[in-house]
Amino acid sequence: MGVVGGGQLARMMGDEASSVGVELVVLAASREDCAVATADEVIVGEATDEASLRSVVSASDVVTFDHELLDLNLLEGLATGGAVLRPNPRALRFSVDKAHQREMFSRTDLPLPAFRVVRGPDDVSALQGWTARHGAAPVLKAARGGYDGRGVLFPRDDHEAAAMALELLSRGDVVAEERVSLLSEVAQLVVRAVDGDIALYPLVTTVQSAGMCAEVRFPADLAKEEQVRAGEIAREIAQHIGLVGVMAVEFFVTPGGLVINELALRPHNSGHWTIEGCVTSQFANHLRAVSGQSLGPTTPRHRAAVMVNVVGAAAPGSLDAARGVEGVHVHDYGKTWRPGRKLGHVSAVGDDPEVLHVRAWQSARAYGTSTREA
Ligand code: ADP
Repeated sequence: MGVVGGGQLARMMGDEASSVGVELVVLAASREDCAVATADEVIVGEATDEASLRSVVSASDVVTFDHELLDLNLLEGLATGGAVLRPNPRALRFSVDKAHQREMFSRTDLPLPAFRVVRGPDDVSALQGWTARHGAAPVLKAARGGYDGRGVLFPRDDHEAAAMALELLSRGDVVAEERVSLLSEVAQLVVRAVDGDIALYPLVTTVQSAGMCAEVRFPADLAKEEQVRAGEIAREIAQHIGLVGVMAVEFFVTPGGLVINELALRPHNSGHWTIEGCVTSQFANHLRAVSGQSLGPTTPRHRAAVMVNVVGAAAPGSLDAARGVEGVHVHDYGKTWRPGRKLGHVSAVGDDPEVLHVRAWQSARAYGTSTREA
């Protein structure tokens, strides 16, 4: 299996590869990329470089992805030429391009915030009066290339919204959307096999800090009916887009119910807890689905789990001290320490969510995370 991108997701796919019976050929930007440590073979090149992609395609039976910074036209050309890409470029467009996701889903009954796609300066004038109509200025998002809150802007009024939209337009299309009243955020992980079989993971609550996911909690703090609804929506999306592999659907929980935020068509940060927390991890199930095997059970092994991301603070802490905290599983991605960089994560699984929360944060702080407990 080829994997485009050599980040921590590809690295954790590599940890599961032999148990699933696949060998990974990773397209990494450099030999320093963290997935190099677990790959069976490495090709050094950019994810948007045609010659590099062709090398991965010819070295593998099927190709999957570790991130969304992709050139879809290039991928479509490869698929037309016979490359087996899972998920395929048509499905990937829903996660690579937020404008496409919003426009396509607005033709269905899937729950979305009010939005407008801004493709040029003429569309910017349509944002006038937004604050009066929606009670707050829109949230502005670069349609492509944003992650971890980069490319998401919160103007104070229409005037600032227009100026910021023009600025974002220099990088491509922009999505302006209603600023929803956030009670919390949840994520639904779903996996779909080549034969159409679908399995849902338990819903989780995600806690953000400075636009980045800081903590993930299972079980989600949400009423049972809403949890069921999240699963139904994820199932509907998986079928609608022809998903193969794992997908995360991120939702806003609002007073009016669930609203879809964004999709990731790959293993996702909100599913790292499944490594220890579920019978089949998201990484194993992604590899199983993409390689055409049947899905493994997504059943949780414990009553509760807490995952805390380790994001570099000014200086590293002690990995030994982090590992010394009782009952935690520390995952170090093997990256060079840099402030603001996602360097690892800590999971704790068991019965009592409060105890797990305390332990996971104690370990992540010892490790040197810059994120703060909510
Ligand atoms: P990214 O793709 O960078 O992860 P998101 O679209 O998830 O960006 O936005 C980052 C964060 O900004 C979200 O987790 C949420 O807290 C906040 N946010 C995004 N869109 C809205 C919105 N429409 N209303 C209110 N808050 C929002």
